[in-house]
Amino acid sequence: MSHRGHARSEYQAQALPDGRDAGALLPAYSSDVDILYSGYSAAMKWTKVTDPPDKNGTQNDISDNTGIRMEYCAVMTQLSWKHFTTGDAAAFVGRTVRLEGWLSGPDPAGRRMMVAEPPCCPGCLPGPVATRVQVVAGGAPLGNGAVMLEGTLHESEGAWILHEARTVTCGLGRRRLLVASPLVCLAAAAPTVNPQEVTANATTVDVHSHAGKLLYVRSNAPFTPVSEPMRQGGLAVACMAIVSDSPTHRIMADHRIHPYRDPAPGELYAYAQQAFARLHALARGQSLTIVTNAAGLHAARADRPCVVVCAEGGDFLEGNPDRVDEAYARWQLRHLQLTHYRVNELGDIQTEEPVHGGLTDVGAEVIRRCNARGIVVDVAHGTLDLVRRAAAVTTKPLVLSHTSLTTRPRPFTRLITPEHARLVAGTGGMIGIWPVGAIFPDMTALAGGIARMVAEVGVDHVGLGTDSMGLVGPATFDSYAQLPGLTAALLAAGFGQDDVRKLLGGNYARVFAANMA
Ligand SMILES: [Zn+2]
Ligand SMILES: [Zn+2]
Repeated sequence: MSHRGHARSEYQAQALPDGRDAGALLPAYSSDVDILYSGYSAAMKWTKVTDPPDKNGTQNDISDNTGIRMEYCAVMTQLSWKHFTTGDAAAFVGRTVRLEGWLSGPDPAGRRMMVAEPPCCPGCLPGPVATRVQVVAGGAPLGNGAVMLEGTLHESEGAWILHEARTVTCGLGRRRLLVASPLVCLAAAAPTVNPQEVTANATTVDVHSHAGKLLYVRSNAPFTPVSEPMRQGGLAVACMAIVSDSPTHRIMADHRIHPYRDPAPGELYAYAQQAFARLHALARGQSLTIVTNAAGLHAARADRPCVVVCAEGGDFLEGNPDRVDEAYARWQLRHLQLTHYRVNELGDIQTEEPVHGGLTDVGAEVIRRCNARGIVVDVAHGTLDLVRRAAAVTTKPLVLSHTSLTTRPRPFTRLITPEHARLVAGTGGMIGIWPVGAIFPDMTALAGGIARMVAEVGVDHVGLGTDSMGLVGPATFDSYAQLPGLTAALLAAGFGQDDVRKLLGGNYARVFAANMA
C-alpha cells in the first residue's frame, strides 16, 4: 500500500476504499487528502462527510468505530487485473478507469481485447474472463502491444468491456509516458521474445564509454570489470574513450564542468599518451580485442567482446594534424571526438562561449586526415556551428556519440536540437543517446528518448552512447549487464527486431565501415 499527500504517515497498511479493515485508520485523519492505494493507484480524493455511505461505492464508511465518515471521489482510477479476479472491478462500472495490459489485434469479428499478459502467439488469448477486457475504441487508433488505456468500464453477460477507449501511454512501465512519436504506437505488437536472443548474433555497440575506471589515469586505480558485464548483457563492442583535457577542467560552483587553467605546452599530449597506455592495459587485462578495421567490428560478438580506441577531445593534438596519423599507428585510434570541455585548437564547444565561430581551419584539416586515414569523426560537445562546418567538410559519415534531443535548448546545453541532429544524420552518420538519469529515469524513458530521436532523423541514424563512468550524475544504464533491459524497452516501444539491432549497434557498424573504406 502506498500513499501520498499530507496523510501519508497516518495511512500505513490500513484501509481499502470500500471500508474493509479500516478500524485503525481515522484518529489521525485530516479531512482532505490524496492517497494512493496499491492497485487503485490513481489519485483518489477523500473528504470528511457526515452522511452514511450509499451502496454504490461513491461513499464509503471506513470508520465505523469512530463515527467519522468519508466520501471518496475517484479523480481517475487505475485498475489492476486483480480487481477483475476479486470482483472489485464491479464497483467501477460506469466510471472512467485506466488499465495497463497487452492489446491484441482484431479477431475475425473485428473485436479487440486487452489482456493481462502478452499473448504467446497471434490470435491466442488467455482463457479466464477475468484476464481479458474487450476494448471499443473511442475514435483514434489504439496501437498494439503494451499500452495503458482509459475508457468507461462496462459489464455485459459476464464480460468486461472498456468503451470509448483511448491510449494514454504506450510501452511497458507504470505511469511512464512514452509519448511524442506516432511510430511508438503504430508499430506492430512486440512478441514475447527473449531480449538476449534479439541481439545474440548482432554487433551491439556502445558508441561512447569510459567503463572500467578508464579515466583514473593519474591515480592508476585498479580497473573494474568491463568484459564480463559485456558478455553477460550481450554487448559486443565498447567505444572506449580517453579524455585528453582532463587535467585542465573540473566541476565548478554551478555544478557544471569548466576549464580552469590553460595547459602547459606538451602537457595534454603527454597526458594522453598515459591515458592511451591505460586503455591498452585495460584491453589486455580483460581480453578485449582492439578493433582496427570494419571486418573486425562486423565480426565482434558479445562472447568475444571488443573495444574501439577513441579519444574524447583532440586536445592532445595541440593543433598538429600529424598527430592524428601518429595516434592511428601507435594507439590504434579509430574514433576521434574533436572537442570536449575546453575550447581547443579545433573548435568551439556547447558549454562555453564560442571563440572560433565553430570549427577552425585546423579542425577542418583534422577531419580530412581522419577521413583519409580511417578514423571516425565525433562531433559531440561541439557547437551547432562546428557541426555545420564539419558536415560540410567531411567526406565520411559523422558520429555525435552522447546526447539527447531537445526542442527548447537552454544556454550551454549538451543536448541537441532537431536541426543539429539532422546535420549529423545528413552525412549518413548517427547520434548516440545517453542514459542520463535526470532525463531518462528508467529504461522505458531511455527507449522513449531513442524513439524521439528516431522520429526526428530516422531509425538508421540513432544509437546508444552510455558515457559509462563519465556522467556527473546518476545514470540509468551503468552496467552492460543491463543491455537486455534496454532491448526489451525498445521492443515494448514498438521497434521491430531488425530496428533494435540497428539502434544497438548496426548503425554504428555501418558508419564505422564507411569511415574505414
Ligand atoms: Zn562527453
Ligand atoms: Zn565521455
